Amino acid sequence: MKQKEIYIDPSLNLETQKMVEMYFSIKTVSSIEGFIYSEEEFLNKYKNTYSFNEFRNAEFYAVYEVNECRTCRHSFQIMVRNRKELYDFLQTGNLLCNCCKIYQFNIANTLGFNFS
Ligand SMILES: [Zn+2]
Repeated sequence: MKQKEIYIDPSLNLETQKMVEMYFSIKTVSSIEGFIYSEEEFLNKYKNTYSFNEFRNAEFYAVYEVNECRTCRHSFQIMVRNRKELYDFLQTGNLLCNCCKIYQFNIANTLGFNFS
């Protein structure tokens, strides 16, 4: 799982854009990628600023590349709007690319299963 890029609405003011970059900024330690600032540190730094409101309503996301799909072994990309989405995704362990996800969903539907 590797962060590929961060998309930030270019119409946001510069301070807010910097906040988004900080929110998603990562460092790699022993080949494990992690966020530099905890969400708590981030909040403490910005919660009373004017830009914080804009940040909360802003449009941005990070693109991550997943090394391999559990089924077809191809790498694929996901978009997350915040860290929670990223953690949720990792926690499901259901690392399927979109093609395989749709395929599996259709089969499950046909069989009458209802996977979530
Ligand atoms: Zn796949």
